[in-house]
Amino acid sequence: MKVIKFGGTSVGTVQSLHNVKAIIDECQQQVIVVVSALGGVTNQLIQMTELAKRHDASYETLLNALKQRHADVIAGVVPEERQQECLGVVNTFIDEGLASFYAMLYANEELAPDFVERVSDAIVSHGEIMSSAIVASMIDGAVPHFSPNFIKTMDTATERILDAETTERLIGEEFDGRTERVHVTQGFIAADVETGVKTNLGRGGSDFTAALIAAALNAECLEIWTDVDGFMTADPRTDPTAEVIPVMTYEQAQRMCDAGAKVIYAPTIAPVAVKHIPVWVKNTFNPTAPGTVIKG
Ligand code: ASP
Ligand code: MG
Repeated sequence: MKVIKFGGTSVGTVQSLHNVKAIIDECQQQVIVVVSALGGVTNQLIQMTELAKRHDASYETLLNALKQRHADVIAGVVPEERQQECLGVVNTFIDEGLASFYAMLYANEELAPDFVERVSDAIVSHGEIMSSAIVASMIDGAVPHFSPNFIKTMDTATERILDAETTERLIGEEFDGRTERVHVTQGFIAADVETGVKTNLGRGGSDFTAALIAAALNAECLEIWTDVDGFMTADPRTDPTAEVIPVMTYEQAQRMCDAGAKVIYAPTIAPVAVKHIPVWVKNTFNPTAPGTVIKG
């Protein structure tokens, strides 16, 4: 079994989602697919939250555009016989979920900051909830899973952290013994271990979700599918001699992430390093390129 994660650009357009489908179809073994929101959607959800909080009704225009974009993607990638159902599900998340959260922020002057934070977390979770619904509908026989059921956070006096022990146990309960070939779940989003309230793992956290699942299930490997060919020797936008690094150790990858390499989210490395699970960084837009492998 392997865990394969697709970032926002990979699930961002009809064309890129066709690549995603081809990559999943090519896997011979069981796969757990972890997805980000459609590219740019998390930023847009946050932007609409800010507008609604400032009582600026222009969030509605953005929300309509978001709805249209998801509808266009569904029309382009979901097989005919599942399109209406998928569109209905996604429209319900927008019309009943997002629209009512934004309307509440828009209409109320004095909401408690704690409450606003909770509403904002609930809003931002919709990006991955919608993208995963689309990807699950796109693949015949794919089993959808809801990651807040098994990715759990807890609050310390100063910060929100992963409840690693509970998460590892719940991932096992969710996936052990399943025989279906393709499973699909959301990256990034989580729930508080005590209250069940929606939380998340921080911006870019979908990579971390995938690593936690791979580690808990002792996956054969973790694949991070993104929009670059792998870790590079330098920033290719400023240095034309930059080359892909074919093999790295966990320590080297961790050092590059800590130094600001944006290829993967820094907390991703530790859980897979402990279990010696190799991590492949691959390009959805150039799938035959060898990519970077990170291993012990
Ligand atoms: N969608 C979230 C973000 O934009 C998580 C992720 O993509 O990894 O930060
Ligand atoms: Mg990312």
